[in-house]
Amino acid sequence: MTDLSERPRATSRIRETRSARDGSDGASLEGASATFRSAHPSSWNGLLEALPEATALLDGLGVVHYVNGLLTELTGYEQHELIGQDVQILVPEHLRERLVRARRERPHTAVASIWNYEDLTILGRNGENIPVEVSRSPLAVEEGSWVIVAIRDVSTHRANEQARADAELRFRVAFENNMAPMTFADANDRIIAVNDAMCEMVGFTKEELLGCDSTPFTYPDDVGITESTHQRLISGEVEQERYIKRYLRKDGRVIDVEVSRSPARDADGKILYFVFSERDITEERALAAQLSHQALHDPLTGLANRALFEDRLGHAHGRVVRQGGIGAVLLIDLDDFKGVNDTHGHFVGDQLLTAIANRLELVTRTADTLCRFGGDEFLYLAEGLVSVEEAEVLAQRLIRVIAEPYNIAGFLIEQRASIGIVIWDSACTSFSETIQNVDAALYEAKRNVRGHHVVFTPTMHQNAVSRFSLVQELRQAFNAGDLVMHYQPIADLTTSEVVGFEALMRWNHPERGWVPPRDFIPLAEQSDLIVELGSFALRESIREASKWAEDSSSRRPYVTVNLSARQFLDPGLVPTIKRLLRESSLRPEFLILEITESVALIDIDETMTVLEHLGNLGVGIALDDFGTGFSSLSYLARLNPRIIKIDQSFVRPVDDSLRNDTLLETIISMGQKLDMTTLAEGIETEPQFSRLRRLGCELGQGYLFSAAVPNDQVEAMVGQVFTT
Ligand code: C2E
Ligand code: MG
Ligand code: MG
Repeated sequence: MTDLSERPRATSRIRETRSARDGSDGASLEGASATFRSAHPSSWNGLLEALPEATALLDGLGVVHYVNGLLTELTGYEQHELIGQDVQILVPEHLRERLVRARRERPHTAVASIWNYEDLTILGRNGENIPVEVSRSPLAVEEGSWVIVAIRDVSTHRANEQARADAELRFRVAFENNMAPMTFADANDRIIAVNDAMCEMVGFTKEELLGCDSTPFTYPDDVGITESTHQRLISGEVEQERYIKRYLRKDGRVIDVEVSRSPARDADGKILYFVFSERDITEERALAAQLSHQALHDPLTGLANRALFEDRLGHAHGRVVRQGGIGAVLLIDLDDFKGVNDTHGHFVGDQLLTAIANRLELVTRTADTLCRFGGDEFLYLAEGLVSVEEAEVLAQRLIRVIAEPYNIAGFLIEQRASIGIVIWDSACTSFSETIQNVDAALYEAKRNVRGHHVVFTPTMHQNAVSRFSLVQELRQAFNAGDLVMHYQPIADLTTSEVVGFEALMRWNHPERGWVPPRDFIPLAEQSDLIVELGSFALRESIREASKWAEDSSSRRPYVTVNLSARQFLDPGLVPTIKRLLRESSLRPEFLILEITESVALIDIDETMTVLEHLGNLGVGIALDDFGTGFSSLSYLARLNPRIIKIDQSFVRPVDDSLRNDTLLETIISMGQKLDMTTLAEGIETEPQFSRLRRLGCELGQGYLFSAAVPNDQVEAMVGQVFTT
């Protein structure tokens, strides 16, 4: 290997003939010198001409007496231009002063000492400096003292040497100053050179590394990697190796390093040394690991994301195909989670999601996959099941675990969940089909009583398909005028007198008969159709209500109209109502708009603005389905509705154990204190009616009085007193 610490060699030097130093002759002049001594100077010219180098004969004073043809060729002078001239004609400008000084100080040896200099040059006829090597041969004969000067042109040689020196310098700069760590090791892998970047990377000094192999900075388990790559290169199996290895820094830190190692060979192919170029990829790898984690995980909860779930399902399916058995996918959906966000804000919502994810992780098997599928939806892949019941037991456990109250940011929150389940085996073919099916099962679960699970059956798929076609049909039905408004009377519970009507939409379907709005309003809400349906309901109801009891002496009933979220937050709502009231000449106080708590809380500031405008118009507000949402007392006071419609679940509990008179009583007395009218929804029986009346509820609606009826039957009910 090149000795990198050696400086480039001098490219030229005086070849002092031995005769000049110790009395013996220089190589090229050796034979000639003796001849010169024996011959008369006048006969030297022929001898000089025969010499193989450019040669000049000078006398002791430095006057040129003869130059041979090679010298004229080298300098460009004609012989006659040089002969008789002082030798300084051949001395370049920068050496002249030296000649003058030498002549002054040592007049007898001055000529012999010119060109005693590195980077020797002589001056050519055209003024060019010609790189040369000079041999001087002083001769003392009877006729006086002479000097024979032999000059060799070394311009090519010097150019080569310079090029080599430049290359070596470039290499050293490239090696020493390289930002990339580099090492040179001999054929036995002993380090013969390292650069600063390498020392910095492993934390050892050059002195500590030189002469060692890579063991001191190799992570013990990875020593084998170095050895095997060494073997492969030595045996000629490969010509270059690139591998990743862990290095152990002097401070004990382990780093990942990408090493590329290649051998340098001599002309016979024998390995002279190895060049290692190293790169610390620790951070890069950590980043890559982080990125791939991010690509496959949900950032909020850290659970698997959809892509990872899909991949795991694919693998699980492969195992079932090979080994048999069944698995399940559970789609867990949080009931009314939106309410948490709306009431407590997104920060609390996020915390709740994380808390739920943590709980689910605690009670599920690590071999199974838990995934955050969307906002408030989680997917769970359960493998190695033996029965459908096992999946159902699992679902019940998850529902129970989620239902335990949470304490988040000082709020006590209760959250329930519904679960759809799909059982799959080797016949299951696609991820998207599995998701579609589990979604259909969840839909059924939510449709029934929330907080339960439902196992997918093929009819559910049919239902999902028909739901889709229902939307299409609904649009056509709307355009064809098959949607109509029916009106359910609202009674004063003290007098049993009809005081108003709630407008409820009905779809008169040619095959299905009367389709209830709970089957189509949620569908319409998923598209723009709800906006059109909403304006239709408003237009129709206001127009019809304006005609009720026009000519009769009885008290005019008011109409209540349900508003969807989209409608309520539509900036066109207030102007539309204003216009409809004007066109129909219905007095505003006979119009009451029903909104649910969750709609009101989507954007409470916006809600307050809309309510203010409606209040200014004189239109009333009823808070629908009261008690099912999340609103606090302070929100109720802020919204200040004219009517609170107590949800049917309080009036008509699913079973008697859930009957809660205290709660009902509280809502009613709260309404009275806040100067709001209470209205009980869904009164079906006499005992329910009497109870509500006893508790002081003012208004009521329900099948006990009448279901919603077509407009042509309303007239007959206006002013009616129900006998129950
Ligand atoms: P809602 O506003 O709470 O309406 C009361 C629902 O309870 C009506 O169901 C009504 O028929 C039903 N109901 C009334 N009395 C009784 C009873 O004694 N027993 C039982 N079991 N049910 C009773 P409907 O008409 O199916 O409407 C369901 C929901 O659809 C409504 O709930 C309302 O949220 C929505 N909706 C109805 N019409 C419209 C509309 O024109 N626009 C909008 N945006 N939503 C509407
Ligand atoms: Mg309503
Ligand atoms: Mg209601």
